[in-house]
Formats: sequence, C-alpha cells, structure tokens
Amino acid sequence: MASPQFISPYILRSEFACSCCGQLPFDYDENNPLPAFAALFIAFAGIRTAWGRPIPINSGYRCPAHNAAVKGGPLSAHLFGLALDLAVTSPDELIALKNTIISTRPLLRVGWKRYLAAGRNLVHIDTAYLVRPRPTAAFIEGMRW
Ligand SMILES: [Zn+2]
Repeated sequence: MASPQFISPYILRSEFACSCCGQLPFDYDENNPLPAFAALFIAFAGIRTAWGRPIPINSGYRCPAHNAAVKGGPLSAHLFGLALDLAVTSPDELIALKNTIISTRPLLRVGWKRYLAAGRNLVHIDTAYLVRPRPTAAFIEGMRW
C-alpha cells in the first residue's frame, strides 16, 4: 500500500494530482486502481529504474478547467489521468529519456517532438490506448508525436 504521500512507487500524490486544484481523476480508486492507471504507474517505475535517477513529473492528471487553461487537447490523456509529463533539464536529456522510454516500454504513447521543437524540456507518456471503448483512433499503442 502506498503511503499517503506517494500514489505509487516513485510518484508523489502531489505530482499526479491536478496542479490547479489538487483533484484526482473521479474514477481513481487508490485501493483498486483500474488497469490503465496501474499500467501507467508500472511503466513509470520501469522507466525510472532504467533511467537510474529521479524523474520529476511536471503534469499528471488535469481537471477540465486546467487542461483548457494550458491548451491541452480536447481528448488529452491528462484528462483521464493516464498521462505523465516528465521533466528533463536539456534537449540532449530529452532525447536520451525518450530513447530509454521507447526501448523499455514500446507500447506507451510518447510525445516529445513538439516539446523539442518548442524548446520545452518535457517527455509525455500515456496509457490512453487502454481506454475502452476508445474515444479516438489516436489512442493506439506505440503512437509517437
Ligand atoms: Zn484542476
């Protein structure tokens, strides 16, 4: 059982909760998380182990108001609580982390190209491909953007 401070190994509750209001996804039950949540947390733990040092999480769940405020997509995986934006310190580190993610967790959806182009040191991962029924054909395994 995770301590109150941690929502899973390596993920602080404060990192996963919406940064504007502190809410968690409405259907998140920490004593029995749905498979898509569990898959995200297990994937992150695997990435963290492969990376070998802490990976700060810039954004996890976003409530609808916060997602709109940051111009997130209308079907952003963050709205489902199934996405994590991982913070790195440089473009070189961004490339290295996305390579680690793709080699260790190939099913994850991984967003990095737009962040690299915009000079933002973030790598997005999500397990939205596990949502059933899928609200968009973009929720497919291994999608890269
Ligand atoms: Zn919020």
